Amino acid sequence: MLTDCFINGERIASDSGAEFSVRDPATDQEIANVPLLTKHQVESAITAASEAWPAWRSMTAAERGELIRALSSLMKRDAERLALLMTREQGKPLAEARGEIAYATAFLDWSAEEGKRIYGETIPASSPDKRILVLRQPVGVTAIITPWNFPSAMITRKLGPALACGCTTVIKPAEDTPLSALAIGALAAEAGIPPGVVNIVTGEPEMIGDVFTTDDRVRKLSFTGSTEVGRILMRKASNNLLRLSMELGGHAPFIVFEDADLDRAVASAMGSKFRNGGQTCICANRFYVHDSVHDEFVARFSRAMSELRVGIGTEAGVDVGPLINDAAVEKVEQHVQDAASHGATIATGGSRLRLNGHADRFFAPTLIDGMTGEMLCRREETFGPVAPIARFSTEDEAIALANDTEYGLAAYFFTRDASRLMRVAEALEYGIVGANDAVPSTAQAPFGGMKHSGFGREGGKYAMDEYLETKFVSWVL
Ligand code: ADP
Repeated sequence: MLTDCFINGERIASDSGAEFSVRDPATDQEIANVPLLTKHQVESAITAASEAWPAWRSMTAAERGELIRALSSLMKRDAERLALLMTREQGKPLAEARGEIAYATAFLDWSAEEGKRIYGETIPASSPDKRILVLRQPVGVTAIITPWNFPSAMITRKLGPALACGCTTVIKPAEDTPLSALAIGALAAEAGIPPGVVNIVTGEPEMIGDVFTTDDRVRKLSFTGSTEVGRILMRKASNNLLRLSMELGGHAPFIVFEDADLDRAVASAMGSKFRNGGQTCICANRFYVHDSVHDEFVARFSRAMSELRVGIGTEAGVDVGPLINDAAVEKVEQHVQDAASHGATIATGGSRLRLNGHADRFFAPTLIDGMTGEMLCRREETFGPVAPIARFSTEDEAIALANDTEYGLAAYFFTRDASRLMRVAEALEYGIVGANDAVPSTAQAPFGGMKHSGFGREGGKYAMDEYLETKFVSWVL
């Protein structure tokens, strides 16, 4: 297992010798120690990225695309090893980890091709002797900060378009899951991506965030994480007027109308809510079900939940793994207890599941019926396997409830009425809307939020805009 950082194509330990431990969330056993780099070392990664930039940006898009695809091929070759590593450091069931590697490589493959289609423009000028050209050029050294819930895909979804556009990168993975990132760093070198183009640094988040936002060689910061940390970084980035992409928290509503296909709604609710144990920024966080189908939906949903198998991610047949750390379990527990104390019914689950010999991080899939406005789960991201449900009676009421949040990342609704489908899709104030669909993410579509869920898009041709400058050349013949 690789535990070194990568700077300028070299494996790097901490100059100070300091390290932090990475633990398996299922057992709390230490699985590796990873460098706590010094400030000087983080700066040296930026030096490497800025020195590598001129040659990288001068390559043709096809040449860069080949190298990006080579990285993707190596990740596919090593998919089983990478998936196991991910399950060990992150906890998700192995089948989901395998799925994430495939999902992660899709961003590389897509970007490798799309890099060839970064078109400029000519615009008719206002005098006959003038020409107006619009050039699209890479922004330059790109800093990337990623979370622990998708340790590989959150990296490749930024790395793919950044590299394809001709930017070089310095990546800081989350402290809970650095091993997947370090593995990607090694594979980038094996793929033949030149030294300095992909640098991976680990260490104290605040210090690294400070370096990224104050070093004026960094031209772009792409962040995925909490709204709270997004705000901190945005404030810090203001001095350098650093270009930002912010993929922040969510609080997704999931609306089931009276004319919904209930089988599909229940199956989709299960997929959305329990993927990664509910630790995804787009997972359904609150359910609104029409009065006339509420009881049936609750009965079917809670039956399906009670059939889920909770356990360690490497065991066959496990659907839900441990939560990432103790604070995560405490938050989930607090949300459930708070809902119960405000009069909700805990229809299924409601407490930790203690598995012999394992860490106390497993939580039973939980259905909270009777969610009301004063409950924490109605306002805050739960980030766990908890599904709170409330009733509604009209379409307008459902839309108003769904939009009543500062977040605007993903929203889902289920209906068989085509007119309603368009009306509701247009009315929801969310960057991603799933209409009869709860697994919207895919490499070719724009993923990102509105309001306090941030700005910028990842995936598809829209992702390229995040890493390109638009230059206007006014030319007198
Ligand atoms: P989560 O709630 O998903 O852990 P965070 O926003 O805390 O979300 O973490 C997302 C990423 O942001 C991680 O890589 C983490 O190390 C990093 N991070 C946390 N605090 C800071 C900070 N002050 N400056 C820079 N990065 C930070």
